[in-house]
Amino acid sequence: MSEPSPCTTCGACCATYRVSFYWAEAEPLPATLTRPLGRWYACMAGTEQPRPRCEALAGDIGGSVACTVYEQRPSPCRELQPGEDKCQRARRRHGLPPLGIEVGLDLSIDGGGPGDPPTDPLPAPMPNAVPLPVVAAEGPSDPPPLAH
Ligand code: SF4
Ligand code: SF4
Repeated sequence: MSEPSPCTTCGACCATYRVSFYWAEAEPLPATLTRPLGRWYACMAGTEQPRPRCEALAGDIGGSVACTVYEQRPSPCRELQPGEDKCQRARRRHGLPPLGIEVGLDLSIDGGGPGDPPTDPLPAPMPNAVPLPVVAAEGPSDPPPLAH
């Protein structure tokens, strides 16, 4: 049986970046969960805030989490892989340990990226996950974009 995704006990990237995408990607999502962003783009509601947190994220960061629109999640969410730089920065911001040892990724400095990112972010929640402590981080006035 494969290892559970580290995303099921994390969610940090969903509460760090502005998750923006071409407006057409918003169409399958509930209108209440997206916000227009200029003429051509939209973003996940909540991620445009100074302290971003996607309104589609259920659970506690660092505890048991789930994306409530997993099948419809936009491309930035599909593309972000556990262990990559944006993942690690998001985890650090929320006081979570870096990925690597536990999931066997190569985290050598100098550009060493994940060896073989195993899974998409945020599949179904792990019911017996033990919540980890959450350290709130100061958000910038405008969250950095996850894409664009
Ligand atoms: S991609 Fe990284 S930061 Fe995002 S939920 Fe997964 S482990 Fe956490
Ligand atoms: S994976 Fe889901 S909860 Fe996380 S930012 Fe994307 S839409 Fe929001």
